[in-house]
Amino acid sequence: MSLSSPGSPSAVTPNFELQPESVATLLIAGQWRAAPDGAVLPMHAPADGRLIGHISRGGAAEVDAAVQAAQAALASPAWAGLSAAQRGRLLMALSRRVQEEAERLAWLEAHDTGKPIGLARADMQVLARYLEFYGGAADKVHGEVIPFEPGYTVTLTREPLGVTAHIIPWNYPAQMFGRSIAPALAMGNAVVLKPSEDACLSCLAVTQLALEVGFPAGSINVVTGLGAEAGAALSAHPGIGLVTFTGSSEVGALVQGAAARHHVPVTLELGGKSPQIVFADADLERAADAVVRGIVQNAGQTCSAGSRVLVEKSAFPAFADMLARRFATLRMGVPETNADLGPLINAPQRQRVQRFVAQARADGVPVIAETPLAADLPAQGLFVSPIAFGPVPPQHALAREEVFGPVLCAMPFEDEADAVRLANDTDFGLVAAVWTRDGDRQARLARRVQSGQFFINCYGAGGGVELPFGGTKRSGHGREKGMAALDEMSVTKTVVHFHGQ
Ligand code: NAD
Repeated sequence: MSLSSPGSPSAVTPNFELQPESVATLLIAGQWRAAPDGAVLPMHAPADGRLIGHISRGGAAEVDAAVQAAQAALASPAWAGLSAAQRGRLLMALSRRVQEEAERLAWLEAHDTGKPIGLARADMQVLARYLEFYGGAADKVHGEVIPFEPGYTVTLTREPLGVTAHIIPWNYPAQMFGRSIAPALAMGNAVVLKPSEDACLSCLAVTQLALEVGFPAGSINVVTGLGAEAGAALSAHPGIGLVTFTGSSEVGALVQGAAARHHVPVTLELGGKSPQIVFADADLERAADAVVRGIVQNAGQTCSAGSRVLVEKSAFPAFADMLARRFATLRMGVPETNADLGPLINAPQRQRVQRFVAQARADGVPVIAETPLAADLPAQGLFVSPIAFGPVPPQHALAREEVFGPVLCAMPFEDEADAVRLANDTDFGLVAAVWTRDGDRQARLARRVQSGQFFINCYGAGGGVELPFGGTKRSGHGREKGMAALDEMSVTKTVVHFHGQ
C-alpha cells in the first residue's frame, strides 16, 4: 500500500490519492494485499464530493486469512515472546511516529471525514495519547494473590483473549484506532481491524507506521471492505476471542447475534441522546458555550454529543437567547477553512438528519436558532445547517432518537425531580452533565442520572483517554478508555497451587 505525501502543511489541497491500480489496503500477516478479484471501493471527500482514493473490498476469505495470521502471531516468538514492557515500548514508539507524522495524518483525516483541520489535528494528538497511555500501562497490569486454604497459593493473572476483532466507525477513525486497538495490543492480543468503508485512510496510514516501528507480522491485521461483507464475516468468525464494535444500534445487535453463535464476548458502543442539565443558578454563559460546542463538534456526529439540553423553566428564555447568539456566529466550511463544523459523512446520513429536521418543522416544534448555510460552500458538499429546537415535547422523536447531526433539542424542566426524570427518559445512557452551583444537587444527580460518564459544570464529548467510557441501557456495554479497557481486553485466570504447609 502506498500513501503519497500530502505536501506542505499549508497546502490548500493536500495530495494523498490512492490510485485504484495500486490499491492494496488489506494487511494480512504483515503484507499489504489487494482483494483477489481486484475489487475496490471508492472514497469520496464529504466536503466537495471529490474522489480521493479507493480501498480494497475484502470479504469472508480475507477475514479468514487475517484471523489465521493473527492466530499465527499468537503462536510466534516474535509477538507472543515479547514481554509486557516490550509491547509497551512498541506502542510508545508508534505514539512518537504519530506525533512526527501528525500533520500528514491530520490532512488525511480531514479530507476523508470532512472535519475541520483543527479538529483533525486534535484527533491525532488523542491518537498519540492513547498509544502512549496504553504503552505505559502494558507492564502495570499486575495479578493478585488470594488467601485460600492452608497449603495452597492462589494467583489471579490477566491473560490475552487471543484474536480480538475491532469494527470501528467513520466519525473519528484515528481516535477509534487508538482507543480500540492499543489496549488490545498492550494485553498481548493479536488484532483484526475492520475500519469503516466511509472513512479509514488515517487508520491505514497509522497501520503502516506500526509496521515500520516493528510490530511483528500478524500482530495487527486490517480488512477493509463493506460492513455487510467483511464486518459480518469478522463478527461471525469462530476463531476470535472478542469483538469490539462502535456504531449503530441496529448493526450492534447483528454483531452481537453473530458472535453469540460461537459464544464470543462482545463490547458495544452504540451512541446516545446525552442530556446536559442546566439549573438557573449555573454559570449560564459557560454552560451555553459547552452546549453549543458539544452539539457542533464534528457536525454532531459524535456518540457523546450533548444532543439534549434540559433547562430549568425560569432560565429557559434567557438560555434560549444565549444559544441563538452563539448559533448566529457559527461558521461552516471545508476542512481548510477550519470552521466550526464541516459536512456530514455521506448522503444517507445527511438525508437522515434532514428527515428529523423536516419532521420537527412539520410537527410545529419551535426553532430557537438556526445557522443558514453559507453561499460559498461547494455544491457537492454534504453540509446541513446547525439548528436548535425547543421546547421539544418529551415524546417527540427529536427528544428520543440519536440524530447524529448538528441538531440540538432543548426542553424545560420544573424542578430537580423533573430534570432527573427527563434525563433518564430515553433508551440511551452514555454521557450526562449537570450545570449548577449547588454541591448537594451535583452529588444527587451524579447518582440518579443513568449514564456511563457524568460531568459536573463541564462537558467532555470524547475527551480524556484515562477516563473509562461506555454505555448503560441501549448505549451498549463494556468499557473503553482508561485502565478499564485493559480488563475488557483480557480474561482472569485463577491458578490454584497445592504445595502443602
Ligand atoms: P454502522 O453501524 O453501519 O457502521 C459502523 C461499522 O460497522 C462500520 O465499520 C461498518 O462497516 C460496520 N458494519 C456495518 N454493517 C455491519 C454488519 N452487518 N456486520 C458487521 N459490521 C458491520 O454505522 P453507520 O452506518 O456508519 O452510521 C449509522 C448510525 O450509527 C449513525 O447515524 C449513528 O447513529 C450511529 N453511529 C454511532 C457511532 C458511535 O460512536 N456510537 C459512530 C458512528 C455511527
